[in-house]
Amino acid sequence: MTVTPAQLRALASRAEALTAEVRALCGTALNGSPEREHLAGAWQAADWLARGAEDLQQAAADLARLQDQPCGLPWGVCPEHGNTLSASGGVSTCRVCRRAWTGDLLGQPCREPVMWKVIDRAGTETRMCDGHVLGARAAAAGATFIRLDQAGAQM
Ligand SMILES: [Zn+2]
Ligand SMILES: [Zn+2]
Repeated sequence: MTVTPAQLRALASRAEALTAEVRALCGTALNGSPEREHLAGAWQAADWLARGAEDLQQAAADLARLQDQPCGLPWGVCPEHGNTLSASGGVSTCRVCRRAWTGDLLGQPCREPVMWKVIDRAGTETRMCDGHVLGARAAAAGATFIRLDQAGAQM
């Protein structure tokens, strides 16, 4: 099960809504009325809820940063075609689409965003970009491929 930033943000906005509801309700008690005095705990609860909402937003942001990390597999790929690069003269070119990149991408860690979680038959989990998943699909029989943005869309 993958936790997504969207799920955390949804919980945060529920906590924000609850905060607003508690404050609105407590605000209806008249100043100086006996009720007002006995609502101190509820005001405090509203503050805690507000804190909780902030922490959830923070956690969502942290998670988004983690999931935005680059693929990082030790060689570069064409984001659309996978292991189709050839490097010569300081330029890497995709053999399929002829797109070219400066530098020897084949010798550098992949900078494409992580889009997939791949679980091989032994249960080892690897996160990789669109381009790398093309090569992995061809090579890894019996592996499970989970697209990360779809996991987020399921909620
Ligand atoms: Zn290409
Ligand atoms: Zn990659």
